[in-house]
Amino acid sequence: MEKKNKNFKGVKELKGISYQEITNKNAVEKLKQKRQIKRTVDELFKGITSGDTTSLSQGITLIESTKTEDRVLSNKLIEQCLSIEATKSIRVGITGVPGVGKSTFIEAIGRTLAKKGNKIAVLAVDPSSSKSKGSILGDKTRMTELVRASNVFIRPTASGKTLGGVGQYTREAIILCEAAGYDRILVETVGVGQGETAVYEMVDFFLLLKLAGAGDELQGIKRGIIEMADAILINKADGSNKDAAKLAMSAFRSALHLYAANTSGWSPKVMLCSALDHTGIDETWAMIEAYVKFTSTNGYFQKKREDQNVHWMMQTIKNQLNIEFFQYSKTKKFIKQQIELVKENKVSPFVAAQAVLRQHKSSL
Ligand code: GDP
Repeated sequence: MEKKNKNFKGVKELKGISYQEITNKNAVEKLKQKRQIKRTVDELFKGITSGDTTSLSQGITLIESTKTEDRVLSNKLIEQCLSIEATKSIRVGITGVPGVGKSTFIEAIGRTLAKKGNKIAVLAVDPSSSKSKGSILGDKTRMTELVRASNVFIRPTASGKTLGGVGQYTREAIILCEAAGYDRILVETVGVGQGETAVYEMVDFFLLLKLAGAGDELQGIKRGIIEMADAILINKADGSNKDAAKLAMSAFRSALHLYAANTSGWSPKVMLCSALDHTGIDETWAMIEAYVKFTSTNGYFQKKREDQNVHWMMQTIKNQLNIEFFQYSKTKKFIKQQIELVKENKVSPFVAAQAVLRQHKSSL
């Protein structure tokens, strides 16, 4: 009986639910969510711009909703957030294989930024976890200090198949965070799938975290990522790992010379840091600020943001066309027929593809 009362305590307001449901934590949470009064877009906008983090979280949840009616509302919310003159932000993408120290680094650099009086938003893109709503930040127990800080907002955003492609929700969450006054946006991604390209397309500065001493510093790295990186940071340059880290730094510096110059005019930097010991962290931020100054002066900073907006627009169109094309029943049927012919070697794959495209066009 004692236990029963304890369980009822705190959820008294949830009338009309069975005891079994109340003792089931998930059921209680679901009910609470269901009964939450839906706030209007105007209310959300007001809350977001006045710094209310609950409104910001609810706004991001609205963005992530796949319901058509919610999409209409979230588009309205985004439009409102875009209309205000947001504080000048710096968006930084952070990538690297699991275990390289991304969370520890974000915690460390977050501390540096919080000390400077910045408002920090930490978001994530994880293309591998369409269901778990971004598993990277799912377990953020490691960012213990940052989680507690009042000027920090940490939020995984759902990934998966969206109209805009991988990263759409995170891209839109940035807009909301900036409207809420967050001026330092850190976007984390794991070194797999399309996450990196997606993050690269939404940030001003792209940072690659690496480890030394693995023996394959240069071989084990995808060329594309090196080309995207504005800086490579060799993490865990501490203790007995220091010398190996220095060697890796030299190797990366020489290797970078082999790559074509960056269109920004900025030469990618290679630096050492220890997220654990908090060394090289302030220097890393100083380098990012130097980059922002450099690219703001030569006009690249603004141009990149404009190009990124166009990229997301084109990406959304392509994805929508893709979905419509393959869902069109007549086309679907015709594709099946052509696949059989290709398998039997009766038509070439290219001729078959052209036939499909022609057929689709004529049946519209
Ligand atoms: P993530 O998977 O990339 O987010 O990596 P984590 O931040 O979770 O770090 C993985 C492990 O490496 C943890 O045990 C950290 O304590 C450790 N670690 C992270 N940064 C450093 C560092 O600078 N030096 C050392 N020695 N260990 C670190």
